[in-house]
Amino acid sequence: MLIDCYECKAKVSDSAASCPHCGAIPADPTQSLPVEVADFDMRFGSMFWVLIKLSFAAVPAVIVIYTAWTIIGGVMNPLLHM
Ligand SMILES: [Zn+2]
Repeated sequence: MLIDCYECKAKVSDSAASCPHCGAIPADPTQSLPVEVADFDMRFGSMFWVLIKLSFAAVPAVIVIYTAWTIIGGVMNPLLHM
């Protein structure tokens, strides 16, 4: 059975994986929906892990900033009171 390509309006077999004229993949909810769901899950999952890694990475950063601030304060304080 031939269907109209939604991109170039050419006749394309509905069993074709993509339009031979323009390469557009035919809109098929049974095929495209699981891909979108998987893509969303993957992005949500990676975002979650990025947040976890950032929160772990923030701990040493806070220690470094606190140490540096203490050292700078210890050096600067006597200079300010000379
Ligand atoms: Zn096409």
